[in-house]
Amino acid sequence: MNEKRYDVVVVGSGAGGGTVAEALAPLVRQGKKVLVVEQGPRLRLEELSGRELEMAPALYEDDGGFLTADGTMTLAFGRAYGGSTVVYTGTSMQPPERVVRGWGVPGLDHSDLDRRARRFAGDNNVHLLDEGLLNENNRLFVEGCRKAGYRAEQFPINVKGCKGSSLCNLGCPNGAKQGTHQVQLPAAERAGVEVVTRAEALRLEERVVVLRVSARPEGGKGLPSEWAPGDYRVAAGVVVLAGGAVGSPALLLRSRLPGLSGRVGEGLTCHPAHILVGEHPREITNDVGHPKSFFLDRAAREGFVLETCMYFPFTTAKNLAGFGAPHSTLMRAFRRLQMILVLACDKAVPGNRVSVDRAGKPVVHYRFTRETVAALVRATRASARIFFAAGAIRVHAPSADPPLVEPGDSARLDERISERHFLPGKISVSAAHLMGGCGMGRGPEDSVTDSFGRVHGLPWLRVADSSLFPDSLEINPYLTIMALADRVAEGVVSDLSELGAGSG
Ligand SMILES: Cc1cc2nc3c(=O)[nH]c(=O)nc-3n(C[C@H](O)[C@H](O)[C@H](O)COP(=O)(O)OP(=O)(O)OC[C@H]3O[C@@H](n4cnc5c(N)ncnc54)[C@H](O)[C@@H]3O)c2cc1C
Ligand code: SF4
Repeated sequence: MNEKRYDVVVVGSGAGGGTVAEALAPLVRQGKKVLVVEQGPRLRLEELSGRELEMAPALYEDDGGFLTADGTMTLAFGRAYGGSTVVYTGTSMQPPERVVRGWGVPGLDHSDLDRRARRFAGDNNVHLLDEGLLNENNRLFVEGCRKAGYRAEQFPINVKGCKGSSLCNLGCPNGAKQGTHQVQLPAAERAGVEVVTRAEALRLEERVVVLRVSARPEGGKGLPSEWAPGDYRVAAGVVVLAGGAVGSPALLLRSRLPGLSGRVGEGLTCHPAHILVGEHPREITNDVGHPKSFFLDRAAREGFVLETCMYFPFTTAKNLAGFGAPHSTLMRAFRRLQMILVLACDKAVPGNRVSVDRAGKPVVHYRFTRETVAALVRATRASARIFFAAGAIRVHAPSADPPLVEPGDSARLDERISERHFLPGKISVSAAHLMGGCGMGRGPEDSVTDSFGRVHGLPWLRVADSSLFPDSLEINPYLTIMALADRVAEGVVSDLSELGAGSG
């Protein structure tokens, strides 16, 4: 076993870990050693080919199809230098005041989060795309919303020099999307923070991270690790977990640290989502341009959010209900398809959680509550109205039976699209906004950390990622994660001398 020593070790390099790495970089100038440990590879821009079958295994855990324990939902999360920010779409939302207040976390003030998130929005070049860059898939959503009596809003996006290749979820081949791999991690490395990739944290011991560095597989994408393959014991004054809402709770659970709250892994939410398509009589521009420029926020009133989207053929095909000729007919109409992603604002409920199996691998338990199903169905009905108002001649709705809804059905959408047709396991539901598992709160009886990500009872251990959310955010989360991670980093800097960290 190789031995190393650092003042701070950060596990994970996504929205949370990348933010902490940059915020701790000034410590390096003061002589401290800071290390980021990332299990995924460091990919070069020219390796991002945009091909689904190549990029999904290179960038995602389980190729993007991580299944929940009962097989009713797939979860998408990244595994690379930059974490899920390499594959996210870049929609950049401020933390919603109503939701943050509702969490009731002592010491967590919305205005503080908002201020920090605004700073990151500036760093990440967040702005509204010019009208000339919006494709018809997006414009039809706005038109359909207006005609159906809704008001669509434009997403602020974090791109610089976007070429509209619509490949955001396979890693931007143009380096336009401003994820942590593009902004925060390179800045941290320039300032002397070390990043070791292909390095999986296997378990934690008191002030120690035990990790395994793997060799680059033959023919695999990405650079070799910065360290020689093998097992390492890395001693650290402070350990910051930023492995994401599945990775961080799983690492804590397999480490079995004495004194940990029994809440580890609990409280998982994920904005379960469906892809819906509306078929138009003519071709529309859909697979060029930034894919996600508008949304309709019905979270407070109806428990859902609608977003424009355009997925690749394989993902689309997997998400459409049905088989054979009807399925193939719809796929052949790909160039005429308008697409909407419907997201339910699910709530943290007992039983929806992360655990680990005997080998220490994460297992996600998730049950759709009646409220979540009702929200998805309401969202589907609203989308059908929007599609038809925009001129669609057919709508594919997974919670309708049969799934193809015609304009003649408009008057009876409530009957055609119904909760009784939502059959978990029979229809495709996926989620990419994973939240919770190490929630913030008052004390060990209701939470894993305080509002600065300090793990109750273990002062050397912090959490700085989406697992901190005590409940769902009800909107796209990455800027809120960065704001929370920034608070955690601030706490680490102020507590460091007390914690007696030293690289020795
Ligand atoms: C396809 C997709 C599109 C999205 N689009 C948007 C969007 O447009 N806007 C938005 O706000 N959000 C979006 N999200 C969500 C957003 O990307 C995530 O919420 C956010 O990146 C989560 O940050 P995180 O730090 O918690 O985890 P991640 O960013 O997932 O990073 C966790 C990192 O930790 C590493 N890790 C885990 N365990 C270990 C271990 N044991 N050892 C070493 N490394 C480990 C993982 O490999 C990973 O790289 C999207 C997500 C996906 C998947
Ligand atoms: S649409 Fe823009 S941000 Fe997305 S992959 Fe293409 S260039 Fe990158």
